[in-house]
Amino acid sequence: MNNTSHIKECPDCASPNIVHSQDRDQIICRDCGLIYEPLTPVVEEPAKKAKKPAKKAPTKKKKK
Ligand SMILES: [Zn+2]
Repeated sequence: MNNTSHIKECPDCASPNIVHSQDRDQIICRDCGLIYEPLTPVVEEPAKKAKKPAKKAPTKKKKK
């Protein structure tokens, strides 16, 4: 779960003067201006990085 509601103080300056942004799941520090959002691990699949042709092109073409 990436829930910021358990955070009671700024992760950076430890100020309790923070604002929870519910819709974006962010914390904004009013003291230092830090915008903190819990990082969702972005897993890039190496197999998907390049577009693969779905099918092999059939070599049926006849050249005249
Ligand atoms: Zn701060």
